[in-house]
Amino acid sequence: RFDVSAPWLNRVIERKPRLFVRAVDDVSFEVPKGGCLSLVGESGCGKSTVARLVTGLYAPSEGSIAFAPGADGRPLSVQMIFQDPYASLNPRWRVFDIIAEPLRELKLRETEAEIADRVAELLKTVGLTASDGRKFPHEFSGGQRQRISIARALASEPDFLVCDEPTSALDVSVQAQILNLMRRLQDEMGLTYLFISHDMSVVRHMSDQIAVMYLGRIVEQAPTEVLFAHPRHPYTQLLLETIPNVTAPRRDREPQAGEVPSPLKPPSGCTFHPRCPQADSRCSAERPEMTAMPDGSRVACHRVEEMLARMA
Ligand code: SF4
Ligand code: MG
Repeated sequence: RFDVSAPWLNRVIERKPRLFVRAVDDVSFEVPKGGCLSLVGESGCGKSTVARLVTGLYAPSEGSIAFAPGADGRPLSVQMIFQDPYASLNPRWRVFDIIAEPLRELKLRETEAEIADRVAELLKTVGLTASDGRKFPHEFSGGQRQRISIARALASEPDFLVCDEPTSALDVSVQAQILNLMRRLQDEMGLTYLFISHDMSVVRHMSDQIAVMYLGRIVEQAPTEVLFAHPRHPYTQLLLETIPNVTAPRRDREPQAGEVPSPLKPPSGCTFHPRCPQADSRCSAERPEMTAMPDGSRVACHRVEEMLARMA
């Protein structure tokens, strides 16, 4: 299992260097080996911060990121796939060298011939050809570039792949191809995914478990079927109401009920209370604790007793 526990994490907001924001607070989750946990929420909820903490791109200001060691005792290898394949590939390198770099860095192959064989194999794995290695990133479409990023991530033989909105920059038809590729690779290679998305229909396709984040906290976590059949937290219900009809323009795909408050001044009590249709006086005063439900979901909401009563 991969246990990630990071209480009291802060993050620096890039353009305001002296401002510290608690972007992620007391977030903890487990991802079973070979499984996929998705983090969902609107932009600014902290899900990308969690991704960057898990991959070591950000260091937590307090707390820790813990990985249970692999069975053979070697450290886990974590790789990240980014939203924007345009920005994450060096435009001046040939695709061959982009994919060969981790093989060289980590000394996974000795000779140039072995490196060439492995690069060709990785290109084939992601649906490209060995001759594509001679080209530069700009010669490919967005979907093909995401395939190149996946090949590069796979080159270092990762145990754990953190995928931050890997398809949200792509056309809908191409999105499905990349998601199917990722699922096939997961089956074939036993990969474990932490999948970050704002799109409920995408996470439904990918995940075993879904964790819903709001203003830096997980407000509900459940097995995928349970979450879709019985969304409990009012915020999860709001996200599910706005499930895209794939032809709708993007602005219709974000929740409509009110704005996300600034993480600089989070609301008191349950931070969702200004937008919550079910809020009462308790909600602005007290922060709800995470409570486990009998069907495997966990929810942080003061209305949890009523939910349990309805289940009984
Ligand atoms: Fe809504 Fe209150 Fe539950 Fe928060 S605790 S989600 S405000 S009902
Ligand atoms: Mg993001």
